[in-house]
Amino acid sequence: VLVSDEGIQQVVIINRARKIRFEPEAAPPFVWVESGANTGVVARLAATAGLGGFEWAAGIPGTIGGAVVGNAGAHGGDMASDLIVAEILHPDGKREIWSVEKMEYTYRSSRLKKQPGSIVLAARIRLQPKPVKMIEETMNQFLEHRRRTQPPGASMGSMFKNPAGDYAGRLIDAAGLKGVRIGDAEISPVHGNFFLNRGHATARNIRQLLELAQKSVFEKYGILLELEIEYLGEGNRDG
Ligand SMILES: Cc1cc2nc3c(=O)[nH]c(=O)nc-3n(C[C@H](O)[C@H](O)[C@H](O)COP(=O)(O)OP(=O)(O)OC[C@H]3O[C@@H](n4cnc5c(N)ncnc54)[C@H](O)[C@@H]3O)c2cc1C
Repeated sequence: VLVSDEGIQQVVIINRARKIRFEPEAAPPFVWVESGANTGVVARLAATAGLGGFEWAAGIPGTIGGAVVGNAGAHGGDMASDLIVAEILHPDGKREIWSVEKMEYTYRSSRLKKQPGSIVLAARIRLQPKPVKMIEETMNQFLEHRRRTQPPGASMGSMFKNPAGDYAGRLIDAAGLKGVRIGDAEISPVHGNFFLNRGHATARNIRQLLELAQKSVFEKYGILLELEIEYLGEGNRDG
């Protein structure tokens, strides 16, 4: 999320609900996890318990709640493939169990993302028994791939969704924008879809870079890049 420089005039919840329970004997085995748990921590604890299938999530920053809402994914896996059910709290106080079908997952989106207001309390995620060594090898390969292809430093991950059949980073690079800066915000010279805060970048700087990338790619290739990140806060609503 990119929070506007004016901030958010609403209640913001820091989610510290982090209980994790593995059910290795269930068919299929699963982990029940509260939505404030760190996604990478869940993947690593599952590995230690000899439960795989969630290796793709090891390098994804943030919480299980964010991953469930945004259909986080990497290395061929995503939440849509692994979620069994999510426990949802609606603004009227009603609690419901939503099946994965009810989440209406699409690429990096869900019903909850399109209709914000309801909260993910917990998720049940499918796992598979596997030798610990095998899970760790796969996870290390994925983490190593990230280290090789993604820039270190303060970023938000991928800024735009990949358009069908192409990569947002490749298009931004081909438009000649790698390394371009506005204020302290920079399009990474390593990966065109990662924007870095090189010191005191403002949300406005980042937004201007996003608009520049969108406009340049559209003018050159006729492809309108769609945001993967979300604008939040005052003055950001027209995003
Ligand atoms: C270096 C880097 C690499 C990344 N790599 C990937 C990647 O490979 N794949 C990928 O998919 N993403 C990636 N991301 C993006 C991000 O980490 C994930 O999308 C993550 O799942 C977001 O979780 P979060 O807790 O940070 O959510 P936030 O960004 O805080 O929130 C995202 C949205 O979800 C909502 N939300 C969060 N928690 C809840 C809840 N409990 N109930 C209801 N709504 C909620 C928020 O209100 C917001 O609308 C990357 C980010 C970085 C910085």
